[in-house]
Amino acid sequence: QVKDAVEDVPGVVSAKIDLVWEPIWDKSRMSEEALVELGLDEDWRSEGAGDSSDYETVELYLSLGSNQGDRRKNIEDALSLLNIELGTPFKAVSSLIETDPWGFESDEKFINAAVYYELEFKEGYNPEAEGLMILEICKSIERRLGRTGNPQYDEKGERVYSDRPIDIDILLFGDNKIDCEELTVPHKLMYERDFVMIPLKEINNKL
Ligand code: AMP
Repeated sequence: QVKDAVEDVPGVVSAKIDLVWEPIWDKSRMSEEALVELGLDEDWRSEGAGDSSDYETVELYLSLGSNQGDRRKNIEDALSLLNIELGTPFKAVSSLIETDPWGFESDEKFINAAVYYELEFKEGYNPEAEGLMILEICKSIERRLGRTGNPQYDEKGERVYSDRPIDIDILLFGDNKIDCEELTVPHKLMYERDFVMIPLKEINNKL
């Protein structure tokens, strides 16, 4: 779109766009491992970080699923991208399990997994704003791994599910309860879905 817009400017014959991708997460919260992985030095980390006692650790549990393409690779790629975007490597990941599609008919089985992160947030952080930021990270990774289109709903407003290269859902975000148009946490259907709960309980059987 930017390229088209620039090429519409009178006198411009063609335009070349270099896309530079950068993590959108607050860099001051990134772990040593993520800094090393991205080849960034630590100087700017101390710039914005402030006193570490102002931060609290918040547990994040996500569910991943894939039933299109190279399913295992899709899950692995999603995990690598989540590590970068969330600014810290996951603390635990479940085994991969193969499951039948839930809520729709398809010959393509799913591979599912659950993953656990510990994130640092400034005390008094806004759970809804940060939850929506995490949701945007999940959606951007879904798009990067080939997921297209918006969620579909039938005439009764019920969700219509379909095959997908990757699905990332937020299950739990600390003790936070979020209920806004785009995001419900804890995830509304998690306790009804074995494909969510079996991997999740493998990571933490108290959940
Ligand atoms: P999905 O098809 O599972 O990727 O998600 C469809 C829509 O559900 C997304 O566009 C989100 O806005 C919404 N949504 C609501 N709660 C959640 C949640 N806990 N995790 C992920 N998506 C959610």
